[in-house]
Amino acid sequence: MSAKQEDIFKQVISHCKEYGFIFQSSEIYDGLSAVYDYGQTGAVLKKNIRDYWWKAMVQMHDNIAGIDTAIFMHPTTWKASGHVDAFNDPLIDNKDSKKRYRADVLIEDHMARIEEKINKEVEKASKKFSPFDEAMFRSTNGRVKEYQAKIDEIKDRFSKALNDGDLNEVRQIIVDEEIVCPISGSRNWTDVRQFNLMFSTSMGSVSEEASTIYLRPETAQGIFVNFLNVQKTGRMKIPFGIAQTGKAFRNEIVARQFIFRMREFEQMEMQFFVRPGTEMQWYEHWKTARLNWHRSLGLGHEKYRFHDHIKLAHYANAACDIEFQFPFGFKELEGIHSRTDFDLKQHEQFSGKKLQYFDSELNQSYVPYVVETSVGLDRLFLAVLSSSLKEEVLEGGDTRTVLSLPPAIAPYKAAIFPLVKKDGLPELAQKIFNDLRFDFDMTYDEKDTVGKRYRRQDAIGTPFCITVDHQSLEDQSVTIRHRDTMQQDRVAISGLHSLLNKKTGIAGLLRSLA
Ligand code: ATP
Repeated sequence: MSAKQEDIFKQVISHCKEYGFIFQSSEIYDGLSAVYDYGQTGAVLKKNIRDYWWKAMVQMHDNIAGIDTAIFMHPTTWKASGHVDAFNDPLIDNKDSKKRYRADVLIEDHMARIEEKINKEVEKASKKFSPFDEAMFRSTNGRVKEYQAKIDEIKDRFSKALNDGDLNEVRQIIVDEEIVCPISGSRNWTDVRQFNLMFSTSMGSVSEEASTIYLRPETAQGIFVNFLNVQKTGRMKIPFGIAQTGKAFRNEIVARQFIFRMREFEQMEMQFFVRPGTEMQWYEHWKTARLNWHRSLGLGHEKYRFHDHIKLAHYANAACDIEFQFPFGFKELEGIHSRTDFDLKQHEQFSGKKLQYFDSELNQSYVPYVVETSVGLDRLFLAVLSSSLKEEVLEGGDTRTVLSLPPAIAPYKAAIFPLVKKDGLPELAQKIFNDLRFDFDMTYDEKDTVGKRYRRQDAIGTPFCITVDHQSLEDQSVTIRHRDTMQQDRVAISGLHSLLNKKTGIAGLLRSLA
């Protein structure tokens, strides 16, 4: 991360704390690493993002059913899914700093640093030459070509080592590339070992009878084991999907970057069951649909890109990530995976129960193929918050901090202020507040000057501030101030409901997808 990126990221973290979005878990005991709590504004923003996902996936699709399965599952689930044997990260320790790293992350960070050098060369040249042909520059400049060749070489070696499960070779790449520990600066590395990421606990009151169970590392398996229950009771016909949101737990080795990588987090997943042979068509369909969903939030089309997986997971025949430009660079936000019939077949085998679908058009039974869309709610929260936070310089040199959240997911849709705390203004303001709160998340504020109240609402992303003044008592109108433009309009109190509905409703976002 460059110093500038680090500053921006630090600002995001401190803003989250200062305005009640996110607190470190158990902070009074110095916190618990990579576990976070959502505060009064954060919980509502998170809920609104979850609602938008749920409505877009479940409410707007006749053929997608939403469910809510338990965190605890029969332990055999995780044998069948492959998590007990293969849900590992390669880890390596530095003997001097005693710090533990994910070997793949060390190598990826190393490649990102080389990429950074290329970007610097491109930037330098773009300032020197006009017009500037970037593609031509990249393919002809000696230094850039050398850097690119290095990246390609490491990528090839690394992907082969991962595919072969060759941990010695992974270590050798770290040694050959002279990658140093960021803390000690030394190259004194241990061997690379595999580390299982699942948390376990025991169920049962008597220790001899207690059995080891796992905290689910993904919500998907709760969907697979209920595939037939939902298909039969919901009379679902292929192709159809099952969606759910819920907590997942992973004992991440490198827990860093705030809520980007947590040990307890929330996923929003959808498994789409299709006829074998049609999975690639549905994979492409969901890639486009999910990218459009993200873009509809209006954070900027250029902030997203697809990244195809180098190493396919044991269950996949195609997989990609939708990456987002976080303050620390492009990173995975959502995974889209064509999981074949792997999971259902495994559960058939381990449970001894048939998990097949009778396709009346083909007059034949089969185990469906699955295309999965899986997005982290906390990562999405970070994407939204980090790209909405802005420091603006106003006319006259003043500055303001504004969180230009998409209005449909902002914690409060509007704030109501009486201009002064007398003359009947608080009473009218309270009345408007009480009328609107049935349909909208509202906040009421009568402390300090109106200017200060605007600043407080800007910082938590409230799209509208409504001020009741003396004229309001006479003509039943109020001033409405727009967060992003700071423009103020005079509107009738009777028109507020429809205005908020139009400008802040999730329906508007959903319509933009149709
Ligand atoms: P990564 O490569 O970043 O570890 P992953 O490929 O293991 O992620 P998936 O198993 O595909 O992730 O999970 C789907 C989504 O769940 C991810 O795209 C991400 O948004 C979210 N997610 C996964 N792990 C975490 C975590 N530790 N903290 C927060 N969100 C996570």
